Amino acid sequence: MRSHLRVGVLALQGDVREHAGVLTALGAEAIPVRRPEQLAGLDALVLPGGESSVIDKLSRIFGLREPIRAAIATGLPVYGTCAGLILLADEVEGAITGQRTFGGIDVTVARNAFGGQVESFETRLVVEGIEGEVEATFIRAPLITRVGDRAKAIATLPGGGVVGVAQGSLLGTSFHPEMNGEVRLHERLLELARARV
Ligand code: GLN
Repeated sequence: MRSHLRVGVLALQGDVREHAGVLTALGAEAIPVRRPEQLAGLDALVLPGGESSVIDKLSRIFGLREPIRAAIATGLPVYGTCAGLILLADEVEGAITGQRTFGGIDVTVARNAFGGQVESFETRLVVEGIEGEVEATFIRAPLITRVGDRAKAIATLPGGGVVGVAQGSLLGTSFHPEMNGEVRLHERLLELARARV
């Protein structure tokens, strides 16, 4: 077994560097992924925040869409934050015309669900399986409006809105833990990867 895990960060657009920083701090090798060949030999993949419609479009232009869907289908552990969660969702509300997702998590997400004056905010919330609270930054974030039978809510806002979900080796959060030095969700991704290696 290798001494460290190789974790890709989809690097088409969005906050790639912040995720790479967290992964490196956890002792993993962070690999920016821009071409299909770079998916080979990964132990896990992060889909960063950014603009889901742009990442979707670029993933098709760069020939990454089908290889990523295949990787998800074969059980590669994948963690999506914000736009990354949207890309992992089976259904999206508020998508632009022609916008698609990779899918994999049996949820519906509503894009930009915290519109108006609270588009961006920080809060602390409880995440299942993580001790204490998680410092969470929401930036034009999606809300999980339906959790299907195969998925499980792992984080909920005080008002009841679902903002974190897990299904098999897939994890998604509406918020950005990587912006607050919070490493425990990435640690969970690495645990899923170790369980598979
Ligand atoms: N609003 C963005 C989208 O719909 C997501 C924002 C983010 O990733 N911080 O893709």
